[in-house]
Amino acid sequence: MNLNVSPNLFNPLPRSKEVENPEIDKSEFVMEWKNILYMLAHDMKNPVTSAGGFLSRLFSGKYGSFTERQLDYLELIKDNLGKLDRLVKHLLDFLRFESKEYRLVLNPLNILTILSKNIEILKTEADKKNIKINFDEPENIDSVINADAVMMSRVITNLLENAVKYTNQGGTITVKFSDIDNDLLVQITDTGIGISENHLPHIFDAFYRVAEDLGGSGLGLFIVKSIIEAHGGRIWAESIPGNGSSFSFTLPKEIKSNIPTKSLRAGHSI
Ligand code: ADP
Repeated sequence: MNLNVSPNLFNPLPRSKEVENPEIDKSEFVMEWKNILYMLAHDMKNPVTSAGGFLSRLFSGKYGSFTERQLDYLELIKDNLGKLDRLVKHLLDFLRFESKEYRLVLNPLNILTILSKNIEILKTEADKKNIKINFDEPENIDSVINADAVMMSRVITNLLENAVKYTNQGGTITVKFSDIDNDLLVQITDTGIGISENHLPHIFDAFYRVAEDLGGSGLGLFIVKSIIEAHGGRIWAESIPGNGSSFSFTLPKEIKSNIPTKSLRAGHSI
């Protein structure tokens, strides 16, 4: 599935209907497109999850052993299924945030703990490319704020996954956690390929991708930005092409904001 579509995906009207009824409300068509996309992505989620479950059973060894070549193919299936799973999740999140449909579930959350946990999970991926992740856990910072645990985990995973993806073999990723006045500050810096000056202002736009050949939806950073802003924080990127990139975000210690909800369609809520 090629998700590298233009943001105008939601704008064009089916020509025939436009001619049939010039009065028709454009926004209804836009809504219709979004609903169709949402339903498609939603229906893809279960088969992808269930295929992943069956694959895990095969890998468990309980159902017989495999030749080297069969294992190589199974690994390829696993990788591709992982990519598909990521695309479907990104698409669902994008539609939720783009339609302001998502309401954050705010609970006391230790940002430092969630940071350490996600770094630990990403280490396996980083090890495969011999990438070192440095993280000195600071002391004496009150890192518990009201935040959405699932969404914050998604922010950190996305930024770390990108850092690994866009850093070459043997590189380094440095994670810093600090607090400045009323904000917590997280910085994820890599020694990767970097982003050129002309691309940098656009990387948080939906469907914007710099490196086509590495795959991806171009939705990850849009989702990350939406989540951070929904928490009342800020996110920005700095980069030197060829030297690496640094993504920083703040979260207010007192989070008050939330995304307003509105229905995409009566009786159908994403
Ligand atoms: P994708 O799924 O394509 O990675 P993202 O929204 O996460 O989508 O990122 C948008 C674009 O920003 C990517 O295509 C990539 O070119 C660039 N990018 C993101 N993170 C990094 C990084 N750490 N180093 C270099 N480029 C990056």
